[in-house]
Amino acid sequence: MKRLAILGSTGSIGVSTLEIVAEYPDRFQVVALTAGRNLALLEEQINRFSPAIVAVPDQENARLLEERIGASGPEVLYGTAGLISCAAESPAEMVVSAIVGAAGLEPTLAAIEAGRDIALANKETLVIAGELVMATVARSGCKLFPVDSEHSAIYQSLAGHRKEDVRRLILTASGGPFRNWSIEDLCGVTPKDALAHPNWTMGRKITIDSATMMNKGLEVIEAHWLFDLSIDKIAVHIHPESIVHSMVEYVDGAVMAQLGIPDMKTPIAYALSHPERLALDLPPLDLCRLGKLHFAAPDRKCFPCLDLAYEAIRRGGTTPAVLNAANEVAVEAFLQEKVGFLDIPRIISLAMDGHSCTTVAGLEEVLAADAWARQRAESVINDIQGASYA
Ligand code: NAD
Ligand code: MG
Repeated sequence: MKRLAILGSTGSIGVSTLEIVAEYPDRFQVVALTAGRNLALLEEQINRFSPAIVAVPDQENARLLEERIGASGPEVLYGTAGLISCAAESPAEMVVSAIVGAAGLEPTLAAIEAGRDIALANKETLVIAGELVMATVARSGCKLFPVDSEHSAIYQSLAGHRKEDVRRLILTASGGPFRNWSIEDLCGVTPKDALAHPNWTMGRKITIDSATMMNKGLEVIEAHWLFDLSIDKIAVHIHPESIVHSMVEYVDGAVMAQLGIPDMKTPIAYALSHPERLALDLPPLDLCRLGKLHFAAPDRKCFPCLDLAYEAIRRGGTTPAVLNAANEVAVEAFLQEKVGFLDIPRIISLAMDGHSCTTVAGLEEVLAADAWARQRAESVINDIQGASYA
């Protein structure tokens, strides 16, 4: 029986994780759950999985949840301290890190420090503080399993091979809903257009990141830290069918890939049960019916977020934290229709250019850069809005 804490249990990854747990009640026990504002779903999950502790973002939501579940329910905590308790002080052996955005960093890092194994969906953790996180993993001796489908594919394609023999990693990207669109077409994109991903059903933030291709940029950074490879050895191929989840090319020209239908349950289950594989009730991959798979180079002019991510790693230090925070603010502003789709890379680029990069000695520098970038991005957004009203 593996004891699990699931951070972000009401999100897309959290719900899929709990579906797997429900299929394998003899293998997994949920000891902690955390959620944002969807208290109705959290209440359902509490009734179904009986965690000992739960956490929500603030005191008011904690009070509302306690009212719903009554005195016999789990202990209800709140705020970052509550998330950290669920991640690092609960009796979990593995923590599923599935909060979206920078809010996932501190609880994930605390879980790593406490030696808990991690199933990592929250890629932002590695983008913001990759060096710190990987050093903490090495020190604590915990195991870090990627949940992101590309990184799970690479993890599997590296198994049994020597890292010195890797020539490059090839991350695949669907290209999102705007593949093959021109800059002119992209000017008028609405949140509704951008939220219509062709292959994957995901949370709103990552869906917009997929449309701008920032998701792939964040994943390049994630792969850089996870597999300890220079970003010059990490390439991106557009692959609209999302069947080849990523590849590893070796020095002798051999390429190892992992294929499957686009369903996050496969990489989640692999992270939960490694090295075993759990039988999942998913439709099989039918390559004969598909007939063809396509690959192309990304359009770096229409989707500059990809190169912004490469640039952030080249500048190093606190710059990736700035890239991430500015992106989070810009995506939210786009969803609220305060700025246009093409403003997203502009806002991030201006934040990165205005940042005095420092080296990361600890969490403090990272959090300061994150806070600075949020303010800077907000001020750029105000300028954009001011200009459009003028
Ligand atoms: P989502 O928006 O569906 O869910 C996010 C979860 O985090 C929810 O439970 C929400 O309540 C909680 N949350 C949000 N803000 C919070 C805050 N400030 N404090 C505490 N909790 C908060 O997102 P998702 O699609 O499940 O993605 C989660 C993470 O996994 C992201 O980092 C994403 O990049 C990554 N990921 C997702 C997918 C996918 O298919 N959905 C694939 C790969 C990686
Ligand atoms: Mg991915």
